[in-house]
Parts: sequence; structure tokens; C-alpha cells
Amino acid sequence: MSGKEHDKEGQENFDFVIIGAGVSGLAAAMYGARLGLKTLCLGYSHGSEMPIGGVITTTNIVENYPGFIRLSGPELAEKIREHAESYELVTIREEKIEHVLRKEGVFEIIGESHTLGNIITKELWNDSDVTISGYNLKHPQTANVSLLIETSKKDPKKVLLETLATLKKRQTEFKTQFHKVVK
Ligand SMILES: Cc1cc2nc3c(=O)[nH]c(=O)nc-3n(C[C@H](O)[C@H](O)[C@H](O)COP(=O)(O)OP(=O)(O)OC[C@H]3O[C@@H](n4cnc5c(N)ncnc54)[C@H](O)[C@@H]3O)c2cc1C
Repeated sequence: MSGKEHDKEGQENFDFVIIGAGVSGLAAAMYGARLGLKTLCLGYSHGSEMPIGGVITTTNIVENYPGFIRLSGPELAEKIREHAESYELVTIREEKIEHVLRKEGVFEIIGESHTLGNIITKELWNDSDVTISGYNLKHPQTANVSLLIETSKKDPKKVLLETLATLKKRQTEFKTQFHKVVK
């Protein structure tokens, strides 16, 4: 958890923010809370009749939801909302998200494969500004890693260079220790 309840501008902080308060978003909110995350779920009524509940609110009868023989879409939505809100860590708010601030960089590492992709990706997770880090191999038979880095504020390229410097330092320390122990 973030620890800080509010930022400098007095805005409330959350560990997990979900855009869209339909069935999927509300279910994700429940699981966020079950993981101990302070969760915010935001919804508005594009495509739906109500801001909270999503498109299921546009149907009269739902007859295939296990546990309920028959109920209306808005009734089901209300039950799911109540369920999500039963977790103290969940806040549900009517709000349309206009844009999400983020920076993204994709980097190709030629001649490398899973080993380096994994090491870099995991090290990137230590930087709290990194929102997503992951990699894939363009083709299983060619060793070229495609690395994705998404950040909130920092330049992804700078973050990658810092990460590589940290890994290099660690490798040097490891080598020194290794030579000391194995003579
Ligand atoms: C008429 C109808 C009848 C149906 N009947 C059944 C049925 O009987 N049984 C069944 O199993 N399924 C049924 N479905 C399908 C079911 O309703 C959907 O699969 C399900 O509700 C999808 O939920 P969702 O949360 O994934 O998406 P959605 O319900 O689409 O929720 C996404 C939410 O995100 C919000 N959102 C999007 N962008 C933003 C933004 N920028 N900021 C804030 N909020 C945002 C949207 O307004 C929306 O409320 C029916 C669907 C319809 C339309």
C-alpha cells in the first residue's frame, strides 16, 4: 500500500484505480480489496443507463446469472455494487476519465533472450514510477527482446539506463565476491 493517504495537493491516494464501473470493474474492485489494496472504481454512463453498473443496466431480464433465477439488469448491477462496496477499501465514484498521464517506451534488445528480458523487467518493478514493465520475444527462434516500459512521470529511456547501471553494478559486486570465495 502507498502509505500516504493524500498527496501534496490534498488529493486522496489509491493503490489501485479502475476505469469503468461495469460488472468487470466492480468485480476487479472486490479482488483489489481482497488483496488489501485501497481501490477506486470510476464509472460514467456511456453505453449504459446508469453510471455504475455498465451495459447490464440496459436489459430488463437476466436469466443466466448463477444464484439468481431471474432479475433485472439494474437489480443485478445494484447487487454487484453493494457487494463491492461491502469492502471498506473500495470507493466507487461517478466520474468520467478524460485522460491518463503516462509515458511509454518500447526498446529492442538485439541478440538477447528470456534471461535478460526477465532480469531487466523484474528490476524495473523496483522503481515506483514504473507502472508497466514487460517483454516478449519477437520470434521464438530469434534472440531479440522487445521491452515495454510505461511510467507516470519519468522518461522511460532514462529509467532503462538507470536500471541497466544498477544491474551492471550488481554484476560487478557479484563477480568480486565470487572471485573472493572461489579461488
Ligand atoms: C441489452 C443487453 C442484454 C444483455 N443481457 C445479458 C444477459 O442476460 N446475460 C449476460 O450474461 N450478459 C448479458 N449482456 C452482456 C453483459 O451485460 C456484458 O457482458 C457485461 O455487462 C459487460 O460488463 P463490463 O464491465 O465488461 O463492461 P461494461 O458494462 O461496458 O462496463 C464498462 C463501463 O466503463 C465505463 N467507462 C468507459 N470509459 C470510461 C471512462 N473513460 N471513465 C469512466 N468510466 C468509463 C462505461 O461507461 C461502462 O459503464 C447483455 C448486454 C446488453 C447490452
